[in-house]
Amino acid sequence: MESVLKRLNGLSFGLMGNKHIIRIPSIVVIGQEVLTNLIEIIGSLSIKNTLITVGSLTRKLAGDYIKKLLERKGVKTKMLEVNTPSMNSVMEGVELHYKHNFDAVIGVGGGKNLDVGKVIAKETKSLFISVPTTASHDGIASPFASLRERRGRHSLQATPPIAVIADIDIISKSPRRFFRAGIGDVIANINAVQDWLLAHKVKGEYYGEYAANLALMSAEHLIKNEHILINYDLEALRTIVEALISSGIAMGIAGSSRPGSGAEHLFSHALDGIAKKPALHGEQCALGTIMMLCYRGDDNWIRVKEFLERIGMPTKAKELGLSVDEVIKALTIAHKIRPERYTILGEKGLNFQDAYRIAYETGVID
Ligand SMILES: [Zn+2]
Repeated sequence: MESVLKRLNGLSFGLMGNKHIIRIPSIVVIGQEVLTNLIEIIGSLSIKNTLITVGSLTRKLAGDYIKKLLERKGVKTKMLEVNTPSMNSVMEGVELHYKHNFDAVIGVGGGKNLDVGKVIAKETKSLFISVPTTASHDGIASPFASLRERRGRHSLQATPPIAVIADIDIISKSPRRFFRAGIGDVIANINAVQDWLLAHKVKGEYYGEYAANLALMSAEHLIKNEHILINYDLEALRTIVEALISSGIAMGIAGSSRPGSGAEHLFSHALDGIAKKPALHGEQCALGTIMMLCYRGDDNWIRVKEFLERIGMPTKAKELGLSVDEVIKALTIAHKIRPERYTILGEKGLNFQDAYRIAYETGVID
């Protein structure tokens, strides 16, 4: 018999007129050696036929193991190796669905495999299960995916994971740089929620105080636990994974990426489009957060910068291989990335002088 959750899966979410539909993960498992929990979850959801989206590395890390695990229990599996986070990859998965009629997509990876898996799940009205192999961004539990198109990356509404299985042993195999990037992505919430409130005041956009507070709490929780994050051990990983998940849940409650994505994300997206060698998403968002807080006159930029430095996170563009020109250019074009997303950058964006001033004042460039 089809489970109720599966039948409800086609339901959209977010704010629709006077209706607010919230979709967040039902099951979150965080810990060591937790992949075997998939069997129970898949059984409880009556899933019989799955598509696993992997990358070449994550296939070896967890994909092949999951495939064996499920097949041993009689669950059919197909594997899709994702090369680029694009609509083309999504279409490959959708075509496989026409042949095999999947009832769930399991995304195994850091960024692109989860993003592509989430969108395939949406297009095929399948359930989505997230198995993160890094803790580098808050997409692991959010209902949003970021795909690369000709004009840069863009964010779209996808299927929120019904379950998140975060195996800390597997995540601990990824480089420490990814873990720090994850911290940057959560810290971004400190600026993002202010942009959201501003858009509410100036443009009358919907603002949900609960979701905003949850996003803010995820970031403040990290600052409070600096003594844990200074290490790279299981406790530190668990702390960042929990913060990333609660950040993603804040977006699910808001029905938009607003609680975790403001002008600092626009700056990072702008860099992705123009930098010779962009840094990691969360690293760029961290720089953006410091500069945008400074631009809005919020002295918290100093507190955030000092925290990031103490945990060993780069706060200078050159440490990330980004040039002064790339930073200034990205700051001045950031407002054009998503014109409908009103932020502290306003409709006109930053001029060269302001961009230079905040980059210099915060020490992002010298
Ligand atoms: Zn992000």
